[in-house]
Amino acid sequence: MMLTLLRLALVPALLLASPFARGAAQTPAYDLLLRHGRIIDGSGNPWYVADVAVQGDVIVRIAPLITDSAARVIDVRGQAITPGFIDIHTHARRGIFDVPTADNYVRQGVTTVLEGPDGSSPLPLAPFLARLDSLPRSVNIGSFIGQGSVREAVIGSVNRHATPAEIGRMRELVEQGMRDGGFGLSSGLFYVPGTFTPTEEVIELARAAGRLGGSYISHMRDEASGLVASVEETIRIGEEGGLPTQLTHHKAIGPANWGLSVQTLKLVDEARARGVDATIDQYPYTASSTSVQAALLPAWAQEGGRAEVRQRLAEPATRARIKTETERLLRTERGGGDPARVVIASCSWAPSLAGRNLAEIARTRGLEPSIENAAETALWIVEQGGCQGIFHAIDEADVERIMKHPATMIASDGEVPVFGQGNPHPRSYGTFARVLGVYVRERRLLSLEEAVRKMTSFPAQRLGLPDRGLLREGMKADITVFDPATVKDEATFEQPHRYATGFALVVVNGQIVYQDGAMTAARPGRVLYGPALACPGGCAQTQTHAGSVK
Ligand SMILES: [Zn+2]
Repeated sequence: MMLTLLRLALVPALLLASPFARGAAQTPAYDLLLRHGRIIDGSGNPWYVADVAVQGDVIVRIAPLITDSAARVIDVRGQAITPGFIDIHTHARRGIFDVPTADNYVRQGVTTVLEGPDGSSPLPLAPFLARLDSLPRSVNIGSFIGQGSVREAVIGSVNRHATPAEIGRMRELVEQGMRDGGFGLSSGLFYVPGTFTPTEEVIELARAAGRLGGSYISHMRDEASGLVASVEETIRIGEEGGLPTQLTHHKAIGPANWGLSVQTLKLVDEARARGVDATIDQYPYTASSTSVQAALLPAWAQEGGRAEVRQRLAEPATRARIKTETERLLRTERGGGDPARVVIASCSWAPSLAGRNLAEIARTRGLEPSIENAAETALWIVEQGGCQGIFHAIDEADVERIMKHPATMIASDGEVPVFGQGNPHPRSYGTFARVLGVYVRERRLLSLEEAVRKMTSFPAQRLGLPDRGLLREGMKADITVFDPATVKDEATFEQPHRYATGFALVVVNGQIVYQDGAMTAARPGRVLYGPALACPGGCAQTQTHAGSVK
């Protein structure tokens, strides 16, 4: 945090130079003053009582009693003041252009979201970031570079090794992505085409991202029966790739695999003990969400595009082979052994299926809800065009064990839903509030300070954002105020479109975006650029450090 110290030293100079400096006649000393808050600064330290003063987009003063005038004074007595939450794994591009206020995130205290997870990102990154930059938004946003997107662009969605020339081309795309402002390389080795990638190829690309200051974040190859081997692979990629590595939305899927987090956390501890910078993120739910096809069809059946998948399903012998695998996945993995555990989230071709489970859908098709008939129904769904699903196959004990680990941060894996549309996973609306309400207040699994650390300074540190994630003088004024006694996730699997409650105020870059139950008209969110940004078109504004805002 040497950079932070440097910035602290700059603060008095800034104050003197500013036309709003204290002492200027008739001009309030500050733009915003939050008084009598319980400061949870994001470091994990115990809370303390102080006032917080903001000027422009910067926290300029934190002190027990600030008496200078401010354009706006808000008494937040009894409530917690924390840094705005930083969500390192989101699919925000699903929806951010329709709902640029990202109400579902802001209303649970999130001020920064990262895109491009699970191996999937826009490519090239620069036009996407430029498009975001021109969209007035409530939240800050940045992106990873998706390994699957890179591979798809170079060799397509095929199951084969890449040639050295192709790997060279992929490396160039990763380097370009980093120079465009990416924060590192994400992978989705569970998905097509990531699943066709040998570990060595991922390491080659990870190395390229790491050389430019990026980190690696992975939706691992297998979160069910192959979980332990997948964690070993993720650690190996960080170790041999020479960059920080993160197990994203860490979980153990399927009853047969419950409890494996004991082993996986031990692997992370051992890796860290020998100097591998391995970390974890997690959402606080016992269900996952992805497409029915990705979850319930074997990878080999998903090679190529949709036409090829349908062709395989139309060929009786191949269909039978796929169905046998789908039955196994329903019995022991994402299906959790019961078709009722698989719930449809959304289907573009049949919106009425949202909220219904595979057993119910089988019945409406005149089938007994056996595993075999559920498999048949799943294949039918894929043939019709596929659906997003929710899979209730995670054990609470694993959720708690992973959450308690000091190297675990909180991330939603959510999206920006259009309010009321479809049946999304409640994590989009409730992740951060749920950790604070259920795991901190009700179960006392974590202290409030530790939970806030996992939502603020820890992801900021991982991303290399030196000016966010802590409440300190000189940091960007991303601030969340909530009542620890009432904060609550209201979204459920049955009724996901419910905003979290207990949040009083959310500030992004010094401007209030949410206050007392309503979004404001402010759109202060910025695009955040990663460590290697090469200032496309010339550096008009001085870059003071990596990760700064352009
Ligand atoms: Zn994922």
